[in-house]
Amino acid sequence: MQNLLELKNISYSYHTLHGETIAIKDISFGIREGEFVAVVGPSGCGKSTLLSIIAGLLEPEHGTIAVNNPDGSLAYPRIGYMLQHDYLFEWRSVYKNVILGLEINHMLTEERTGYVNKLLKEYDLDKFRDKRPGELSGGMKQRAALIRTLALDPGLLLLDEPFSALDYQTRLMVSADICSLIRATGKTMIIVTHDLSEAISIADRVIVLSGRPARVKCELPIKLTLKDNSLLASRNAPEFNSYFNTLWEVLISDE
Ligand code: ADP
Ligand code: MG
Repeated sequence: MQNLLELKNISYSYHTLHGETIAIKDISFGIREGEFVAVVGPSGCGKSTLLSIIAGLLEPEHGTIAVNNPDGSLAYPRIGYMLQHDYLFEWRSVYKNVILGLEINHMLTEERTGYVNKLLKEYDLDKFRDKRPGELSGGMKQRAALIRTLALDPGLLLLDEPFSALDYQTRLMVSADICSLIRATGKTMIIVTHDLSEAISIADRVIVLSGRPARVKCELPIKLTLKDNSLLASRNAPEFNSYFNTLWEVLISDE
């Protein structure tokens, strides 16, 4: 199967008054339609920079990103970006928050709001549509943020440590929940996380980056025996520990 996106030899440096910081160097990998890829690496290595480049917010210094859409078109996929903090606006109702992107992009069509309403029902947020974000639990806020992201019908979801503001137990539940919901949409996703267990439980493939400047140290395909199809139970899968140990060894190794 062809890759939806193909990154080839991507490099990027920041230039400031204090000099040059080479953030990423010669990164190449592909991502297939519908695939979940997790990117892990030490803090400050260049993960967010990489996502910003894929999102088109930063122009790579070297390298290219090729697009192969299933319909043969070369259009860059529409990007949905979810960050660490959900940034729901307290002065807007939950509904007004989830349609914010549509409003800004002048896309408040019947079709789009119909889709938003369907997601609100499916994600059990319909009864909270007129509440303020402050009245929602952490998990519900994250679901609302996901609906806001999906409302624009992105072809590619980029998640930058989206669960790291949550406490550990909430995080386990919410990451499993949100990723199952995204899986059900069939969308392609790249998630940055520094949590190896999270990466293994969520992704089809884990890409380990080196310390700065980030290079690809290894790509590990993940295949877990899922019990009851639950992401939480996947952490008890027999293969889990061996994946964890492999990734950990790669992460801490000096090449
Ligand atoms: P990560 O997301 O892996 O923690 P980042 O991609 O945010 O890492 O940053 C990679 C490196 O680039 C870091 O050393 C950071 O200090 C530097 N950096 C990030 N953004 C900027 C910027 N706007 N200007 C200068 N340096 C930056
Ligand atoms: Mg980051």
